[in-house]
Amino acid sequence: MRIPCPLCGARDLREFTPWGDAALMHRPGFEAGPEAAHAYLHLRENPAGPHRELWYHELGCAAWLIVTRNTLTHEVLGASLAMDDRTGGASPAGDYAPGSPAGDSQASGGRT
Ligand SMILES: [Zn+2]
Repeated sequence: MRIPCPLCGARDLREFTPWGDAALMHRPGFEAGPEAAHAYLHLRENPAGPHRELWYHELGCAAWLIVTRNTLTHEVLGASLAMDDRTGGASPAGDYAPGSPAGDSQASGGRT
């Protein structure tokens, strides 16, 4: 499986570390109360199909990515930088599609 890092291009899965549901990026504030904190800490979706996941490009550019992956086929549907995420974790769409012009090319390589 290859993951299309927006900064590095398509890279081997072994360069990345999965961190689970991308909803983890949207931690509720203290004002949300204990039920929201419980849901954030303990409740996870387990979808059969497209799922937004948080991945860390540990052996590459050290960027945090939102990878949209079909959990039934393992097909990667897209990836975007987590720092650019404005969806609140609700959208299954990624900003970068495999096979786009960045392809396998090596980007200039800055850390994010
Ligand atoms: Zn990268």
